[in-house]
Amino acid sequence: MVKAIRGTRDLLPSETQLWNKVETTARAVFARYGFGEIRTPIFEATELFVRGVGEETDVVSKEMYTWEDRARAASEKAQQLTLRPENTAGVVRAYIEHKLGESGHLQKLFYIGPQFRRERPQRGRYRQFWQIGAEVLGPQSSGAESPVRDAEVLEMLASLLDELGIKGWRLALNSVGSSSDRPRYVAALRAALQPVKASMCEDCQRRAESNPLRVLDCKVPGDQATIDALPRIAEYLDAESTAHFDQVKAALDACGVGYVVEPRLVRGLDYYTRTTFEFTVPDGSGLGTQNALLGGGRYDGLSEMLGGPKAPGIGFAIGEDRLILTLQAQATEAPAHKLDAYIAPLGVERNAAALALARDLRRQGLSIEVGDGSFRLKKSFEAADSVARHIVILGEDEVADAVATVKAFATGAQVKMANAQLAEYLQGV
Ligand code: AMP
Repeated sequence: MVKAIRGTRDLLPSETQLWNKVETTARAVFARYGFGEIRTPIFEATELFVRGVGEETDVVSKEMYTWEDRARAASEKAQQLTLRPENTAGVVRAYIEHKLGESGHLQKLFYIGPQFRRERPQRGRYRQFWQIGAEVLGPQSSGAESPVRDAEVLEMLASLLDELGIKGWRLALNSVGSSSDRPRYVAALRAALQPVKASMCEDCQRRAESNPLRVLDCKVPGDQATIDALPRIAEYLDAESTAHFDQVKAALDACGVGYVVEPRLVRGLDYYTRTTFEFTVPDGSGLGTQNALLGGGRYDGLSEMLGGPKAPGIGFAIGEDRLILTLQAQATEAPAHKLDAYIAPLGVERNAAALALARDLRRQGLSIEVGDGSFRLKKSFEAADSVARHIVILGEDEVADAVATVKAFATGAQVKMANAQLAEYLQGV
C-alpha cells in the first residue's frame, strides 16, 4: 500500500474544522490591523533562500527540498528549485518584483500556507507544516523601521493568541542589533569562541568560523555552559538600536503585553536585525519539546540582500500545526459538532422526495445528511444519532401531505409538522 510520506500528514474532517476556525480567526484579526493576504508560489529559485535565509542556517544547509529542473533547451542551464522552507523570502521577493514600495505606503501582508523542511519528524515537527505569517515592510519614508511597527505586530499576536484561547503563552524578546552593531558583536563572539570551540560540537566548531551567531542556536546539552558564558549582544548595541529596543518595550508595557528579555534569542535565520521574538507555551500544552509556537523579528536588510530597494520590515510565522496541537491539548471539552438533521426516507420510493427536501433545507442554510430508503428504521436512527441533532422521517403519508416527523435526540421530543415550518423548527432546537 502507498502511504503518506514520513513527516507529512492527512488532516481529516474531524481536525480541519479546528484548522478552519483558527484560520478564520486569524484572517479577522489581521483585517482589523489592516493586513491584506498574499499568496506566493510553493516553489522558488533555490538562490532566493540561500541569499535570503542564509547559507549557514540549518534550514538552508540541511533541510531544504531542492531539485534540478529540466532545462528546456540543450543550451539552457537547468535551474535549481526549492520547495519553500519559509515564506518571508518569497514575500520580500514579491514585494521587490511588483515594486510594492513605489506606492510609498507601508505594506502589511499576511499568508497562510504549507512550508517544507527535511527535519527529523516528531510531535509538533513535520516535513510539511503550515505557517500563518505576516510581514510589515515598506520604504523608509513609510515608517517601516519604527518601533511602533514591532510593538503593533507583537500586540496583534498577543490579541490573536488570546482570542484563539491559547493559555499561558510567554513572549521572549531580544534585540540582535543593526547591521552596524552586528559585525562588532560577531567579531567579539568569534574571538571568545577561539579558545573554547575545540570542546564544542562539530557544527559549533564550523560555525565559530563561518557564522558565529549561529552558535547561539545550538541545542547540544554539552555546549550550553560554554554558550552561556559568551558575550551578550545587549552590550554591543549602539545608541540607536538601544533606543529602538527601549521604545518597543515601552509600547508593549503601555499595551499590557507581558514579555521576558532573552539575550540568547537570535533565531535560526540569518536575516534578522534588531527585534527578535518567540512565543512559547507551557509544558503540558501538547507540544512536547517543540514548545515554540511562533517566531519572528525585524529584517531591515533583507530586501537589499535580495537585490531590492531598501525596505525595512518586521514579520512572524506561527506554526499552525503547533497552534492546533496546543488548542487540542488545552481544550476542556471536545467540540460537539453535529449536523442539523438526518433525513430518513422509509422505502426507496421516498429517496427522491428526501433529496428534494434536503435541497430545500440546505438552501436555507441548514446542514443535512440524507439516508437511504433501503435502510431499516433502526439503522436509520443509529446513523442519524451519530451525525445529526434531529432525525426527519419521511414515510409514504408524510410525502403525500408535505409534512415530516421530526425527533430531537437531545430531548426525545417527536413532532409532525409541515415541511414549510421545518427549517425554522430545526434551527430553533
Ligand atoms: P521559523 O520559520 O523557523 O522561524 O519558525 C516559525 C514557527 O514555525 C516555529 O515557531 C514553529 O511553530 C513552526 N515550525 C517551524 N518548523 C516547523 C516544523 N518542521 N514543523 C512544524 N512547525 C514548524
